[in-house]
Amino acid sequence: MNTKVTIIMYHYVRDLLNSRYTEIKGLDINLFKEQIYFLKKNYNFITMEQLIDSIDGKFNLPSKSVLLTFDDAYIDHYTNVFPILANNNIQGSFYAPVKALTKHKVLDVNKIHFILASCNDKNLLVNKTNVILDRYREEYRLGSNEYYYKKLAIPNRFDPAEVIFIKRLLQVELEEKLRNIIVDELFEEFVRMKENTFSRELYMNEDQLKTMRKYGMHIGSHGYDHYFLNSLTEEQQYEEIKKSFDFIQSIGADPDYLTLCYPYGEFNDKTKKIAKQLNCKIGLTTNVDIADYRTENCLSLSRLDTNDIPKDKSSEPNGWFKKA
Ligand SMILES: [Zn+2]
Repeated sequence: MNTKVTIIMYHYVRDLLNSRYTEIKGLDINLFKEQIYFLKKNYNFITMEQLIDSIDGKFNLPSKSVLLTFDDAYIDHYTNVFPILANNNIQGSFYAPVKALTKHKVLDVNKIHFILASCNDKNLLVNKTNVILDRYREEYRLGSNEYYYKKLAIPNRFDPAEVIFIKRLLQVELEEKLRNIIVDELFEEFVRMKENTFSRELYMNEDQLKTMRKYGMHIGSHGYDHYFLNSLTEEQQYEEIKKSFDFIQSIGADPDYLTLCYPYGEFNDKTKKIAKQLNCKIGLTTNVDIADYRTENCLSLSRLDTNDIPKDKSSEPNGWFKKA
């Protein structure tokens, strides 16, 4: 019996060339379509409910099963992805950060993406950040600017040193309160839009989620505040997860098929304990592998990134296909 499924993770899916922010790291719609054709040709699409039924012994997973997941409930998913999936009779699973959607906030991680995409000169951005750090150095007992740059500005295969510096400083290194202050200041200066307005343009709204649910899409939890769950106490984690499950059920999610996609892929044993207690069936991580519920815990299944799968319908399948 097959217990393996290729779960693919997507974030932005948009008409990049014609968008206002051409630098945003996303998947172009045409490449998304090509990838769908490639998957149709080589894999078997299943639904999240079929995966859960299969774990419960009520469904047989076909070989080369594939499942598509979309994080953060971007409007891209409603406008660009949903029609393509609906036309091809494919189910997607959508993971909404509740507070961003319902209170019209913008996640810090998204603010940082758009700050970076709005400023061509990344050195200017580093300099501006350093000026703000100077202002808060005493109050927050910060190290020197050189200390942070040396520690954090390490380029990787995706980003140059300046970009990694901004991302790591503002996503992890500084304490949350100061991170928010700096991100908001840079957002105001470079993106120049009100957070409320920007949020309404960036994310889906509740009605759009409800519509997708009505058309057979799966809606799961992505936390309330999109926190690193492993950085919270057990009580805080419970609040985060409970509130997000209440929300998705209010827009039509089936209480017998609750799923949770961990923000930033981060979780710990407490997270899994709470998820189980709240009747959650599937937990999705960002560990890069083919998911297998025989060897992995159902509450910490691996996923591949869209970039791990060919984006050309005539491509030969790659190594992940053989593992699937
Ligand atoms: Zn997310």
